[in-house]
Amino acid sequence: MHDSCPLCNSAQVALFHQYATFSLLTCKDCDLVFQPHLDQVNVTQLVADIYDASWVSMRDQYAKNTFTEHAIFHTLLLDMWFSEKGKLLEIGPGTGELLFLAREAGWEVVGVEPSHQSCAYAQDRYGLQLVHSLWNSSVLAPEHLGTFDAIVFCHVFEHISHPKQYLEELKGFLKPGGKIIFSVPNKNSFTNKLFGVYSPLYTENDHLFHYSRDNLISLLHQGGWEILSIFSREETNRLENHLRKTTQTPLPIQDIMQLAVNLQSTFQGHEIFCIATRQAQEVQHVDDQNQTNSFHDCEK
Ligand SMILES: [Zn+2]
Repeated sequence: MHDSCPLCNSAQVALFHQYATFSLLTCKDCDLVFQPHLDQVNVTQLVADIYDASWVSMRDQYAKNTFTEHAIFHTLLLDMWFSEKGKLLEIGPGTGELLFLAREAGWEVVGVEPSHQSCAYAQDRYGLQLVHSLWNSSVLAPEHLGTFDAIVFCHVFEHISHPKQYLEELKGFLKPGGKIIFSVPNKNSFTNKLFGVYSPLYTENDHLFHYSRDNLISLLHQGGWEILSIFSREETNRLENHLRKTTQTPLPIQDIMQLAVNLQSTFQGHEIFCIATRQAQEVQHVDDQNQTNSFHDCEK
């Protein structure tokens, strides 16, 4: 007897694959892949097991890559979606490269990070005082409610056991017109096609959900969010590594680049990025409950 689908509530759920220490299920109706018994997942233990001293030392070794492939790209997204620097919350900033660059660029930054070693590194290296905790809505002082222009969470959402509740909680921390910017591994990625059920995305036991573009759109619309942009990205260094593992003869560089562009435009990139804000009619409803319904009608 399996759980029903946490996204569409369908009972048409089947085993996706049984791994040594955990299993994944798939919904035949919406194609979501997820771990069963989400209420019993011990996220604290998973975080402690994975994001430990050796993970931080790996991040230190590849700090330049983290800056170029992750942090700089996210500062560009912030520049694209915000005309002024405001207040930024990052959930799960890891070793803090994005928050460091954003702070230097003029953002007021707050970070909530569950790994003790990552918090110590961010303090040591970048002078960032992160809040050491798993995310929950009471982890920040009440004066932060309704104050953030941007909430960013990169490769965090797939670890969240109650995604609908999580998104709902974030609304309380956004300013009117504030935006969330987040990324998750792409269930329909070329990476997953190449390696099947043994893809590195599926075998990470702390990935509780594997979302497709359609899954995210459905989840966000159910929660009253308006999607401003959704796209997939392929990092060329990663693609090159993956191809090296699966093909005998190395492909010419122009073929790899062409493939990367093709994967991105057909939504098969390794990760999905999404920028969203609260639906206008919902904000209006909450912020001014005495308003007539005419606004809501014309927004639909
Ligand atoms: Zn489903």
